[in-house]
Amino acid sequence: MQVIFIGPPGSGKGTQAKRLASTLGIPHISTGDILREAVADRTELGRKAAPIMKEGKLVPDDLMVGIIRDRLAKADARKGFILDGFPRTLVQAEKLDNLVGGGNGSRNLRVLQLLVPDDVIVKRIALRRSCPECGAIYHLETAPPANDLVCDRCGAEVVARPDDTEQAVRKRLESFHRQTLPVATFYKTKSILREVDGVGPVDEVFERIERSLQ
Ligand code: AMP
Repeated sequence: MQVIFIGPPGSGKGTQAKRLASTLGIPHISTGDILREAVADRTELGRKAAPIMKEGKLVPDDLMVGIIRDRLAKADARKGFILDGFPRTLVQAEKLDNLVGGGNGSRNLRVLQLLVPDDVIVKRIALRRSCPECGAIYHLETAPPANDLVCDRCGAEVVARPDDTEQAVRKRLESFHRQTLPVATFYKTKSILREVDGVGPVDEVFERIERSLQ
């Protein structure tokens, strides 16, 4: 199965995409995680992407398409994949169709759009923390680490993402509405879009996602 998650920042797509990937036994491919790793490793890609990400803007399409082309070419992606954070523009969606389905898209592709209102997003992101080492995601109110600010999985200190400031979040929401919502429409016209209510406890949202894929 090939699944694309579409949702605004803070919609829970990272958490849900990871869970679905482990349930289905296919790789979770998050372009945000790939970029953050490149920033931490100070690679050339990381140096280019860091200032763009910090402002909440989108990294250029050609760089992103190159990253996805390389990642999908790896052996583990042959049996399927969960894409989290890609495609985020129409150009990226069209290029992905070429990569996975020779121009017409793939028959195995399903697109899940998580619906969460902006005011819920802003509240969620203010309390979001994540582990810079292993990528685990926490919420200080609803899903805090067991031990203060220490990651349950690897023991590193959990922190707020540098692009989770209010100003950057507003920018990211704006680019979501302007550039990524047309991607949802693109898949809707192909009748492969499933809209899922993303408000509520993580387990409930996951059940809705599983049902929508049946
Ligand atoms: P995310 O973790 O998905 O919220 O991504 C964090 C940041 O990485 C975004 O705000 C963008 O700056 C950048 N990014 C991730 N995926 C993409 C993409 N497909 N196209 C452009 N920029 C991206």
